[in-house]
Amino acid sequence: MERESLEMDVVFVGAGPANLSGALHLARLVADHNDGVANGKRAGKPLGEIQIAVIEKGASVGAHILSGAVMDPRGLAELIPDFVDRGAPLETPVKQDHFLYLTKKRAIRAPITPPPLKNHGYYIVSLNRLTAWLGEQCEAAGVNIFPEFPGAEMLYDERDCVVGVRTGDKGIDAEGNPKDNFEPGVDLRAKVTVLGEGVRGSLTKKLIQRLGLDKGREPQIYSLGVKELWELPDDRYPAGRVTHTLGFPSDQWTYGGGWIYGMQNRILNLGYVTGLDYRDPLIDPHAEFQRFKTHPFVAKLLSGGKMIRYGAKAIATGGLHAVPQLYADGVLLVGDSAGFLNGARLKGIHTAIKSGMLAAEAIFDALVAHDFSAGKLQSYEQRVKESWITPELRRYRNFHAGFRHGRWLGMVNAGLQYITGGRAWGIFDRDHQEAGHEAVQKLSVYGYQGDDFAQRYKDLRFDGALTFNKVTDVYHAAVAHDEDQPAHLHVLDKNICATRCAEEYGNPCQRFCPAAVYEMVADGDGPRRLQINFSNCVHCKTCDIMDPYQIINWVTPEGGGGPDYKGM
Ligand code: SF4
Repeated sequence: MERESLEMDVVFVGAGPANLSGALHLARLVADHNDGVANGKRAGKPLGEIQIAVIEKGASVGAHILSGAVMDPRGLAELIPDFVDRGAPLETPVKQDHFLYLTKKRAIRAPITPPPLKNHGYYIVSLNRLTAWLGEQCEAAGVNIFPEFPGAEMLYDERDCVVGVRTGDKGIDAEGNPKDNFEPGVDLRAKVTVLGEGVRGSLTKKLIQRLGLDKGREPQIYSLGVKELWELPDDRYPAGRVTHTLGFPSDQWTYGGGWIYGMQNRILNLGYVTGLDYRDPLIDPHAEFQRFKTHPFVAKLLSGGKMIRYGAKAIATGGLHAVPQLYADGVLLVGDSAGFLNGARLKGIHTAIKSGMLAAEAIFDALVAHDFSAGKLQSYEQRVKESWITPELRRYRNFHAGFRHGRWLGMVNAGLQYITGGRAWGIFDRDHQEAGHEAVQKLSVYGYQGDDFAQRYKDLRFDGALTFNKVTDVYHAAVAHDEDQPAHLHVLDKNICATRCAEEYGNPCQRFCPAAVYEMVADGDGPRRLQINFSNCVHCKTCDIMDPYQIINWVTPEGGGGPDYKGM
C-alpha cells in the first residue's frame, strides 16, 4: 500500500496537557533562539522553521480528556505565568476542603484534612476545556494540530531507533476491507517523537516492551476513576468546595475513595476511584461508584438533581518506582504515559505540564546539537530528576504499597510517609510490587460458585434517577464510533473466555469495563461466547490493564471515534 510520508521535526502523539505544553514550550524556545541569533543576542546558528505536530485520536482537542479535576497550578504558572489574565478556563478556586470517612450510614468529617488533600490555592477545572484552550495557545504559536489522527504504529529504523509514527487508516470495514472513503494512514517522520498518549498508551506499552524501558522498575499499578456531572436544583453545594471520602463502599482490601467537587452553575462533579489491584474478581468499579451515590450523605446531596455527563478513565498510581526509562533513540515519554501522577494527592496535571516542558527543553538542545540519540535525549530524564517532579513523587513513593495490607494499615503508612518523607520499611516497602491483574483472585478463593453479579452487589438497583446502569451512563459520555470498522479491542485467544476465564474468574471483563463493552452471550447449545460492543468504549484502557490473562489488546480505533468529554 502506498502511504504518504510527511517530514516533521518533532511529533507529539496525543493532545493532552503534557504534549500540548511541550509543543508550546518548544515552539517558543525555537522562536526565542531564532530571534536571539538574528539580533545578535545569542550565539550559534538559527534553527530555521521547525515543524512541530501534535496528533490526536479524538475528533477535537480535549474530546478524550477526562480528569477529576483539582489542578495544582504550579505547572501551568511556569508555562503561562499570566494564565488567569489570558483567560485559561478555570472553573473556580478551591475555597473549602472536606475529608469524610463514610461508614454504611454515616459521614464522619475528619477534624483535619490530610495534608496531601489540602487544595487551597488550587483550581477546580474541566480538563477538557483547559486542554482545548492549551490547543489554541499551541496553534497561535505555530504548532500544527491534527485531530482525528490516531497514532497506530511506531516507525523504527534498522537500528531500532524511533523515526516517527504511522497514523491509523481510515475507511476500513468490519471485515477489514477498504470502503469507498478509504484513506491510508500517513507516515509522520520525525527527529523526535514524544509519547503523551495518557495512561496505558497503546504505542507506549509496545515501545516499553520492545526496548525494555521498564527494566529494573516496579510494574505500574492503576486505578479506575468513574465520574458523573450532576446539575443541582439549588446552591446546596457551593462552587469551590472539595470533598474527598474514604470508606464506603470499598471493602477494606480494596483501594478506593470518592470525590465531590462544586463547579460553577450548580454543577456537581463527583466520582469514585477503585484500585485496579483489587482481589475480589466480582468487583465492578462502575457499580462501586453507583453504590457510593446511595450513601445517605451523597444521595441527599443529589436528590432532585439530574445526571448530565459520564466518563471513566484509568489513572497510573504506581508512583516513582514504576516510572520507566523516559527516553530512547528518537523518543521521549511524558505525562501519564510516563506515570507522573501523584496518587496520594490525586493530581497529575501539574506534573504532566512540567514533564512536557522538560521534554521540550531536552528536544531543543537536541535540535541545536543535531543529535537525537538516546545519549543526547537522556538529558530529559536528568531534567526530570532535578526538577520538582521527582521530590514530589519521592515523598509519596510508598503511598500505595501500604494499602496492600488493608485500608487501616494503608492509612497508617500514608501518615508515616508524610512524616518520613516517603520512607518505608518491612511490609510497607513496595519493592516487588505485583501488577494489578496479578492481584485479582480466582472465584474459588472467595467461594463464589459462578460469576453472579448479585453476590457482591445484591443491594444495588439501577433506578434511573440516582443510580444508572452502564448503558445509560455511556449514553451520557456521548460515545460515537463508526460501527462498520474492525473492533479496536483485540482478544488474542477467545477460547480462554468461554472456558478457563469463565471457570476461574467468571469473565471479569463484564465487570471491570465501565462501558458494557464485553458481554458473554448465549451461543446455541454451546458455551457462552464473548461479544464485544466496541462502539460503547470510552477509551479508559481498563481491559488492557486488568484482564487476568493479558490477552486483551486495546488499539486505536478509526480517528475521531470515542467519547466526547465536553465540560468534563
Ligand atoms: Fe475501557 Fe476497555 Fe471498556 Fe473500552 S473496552 S471502556 S477501554 S474497559
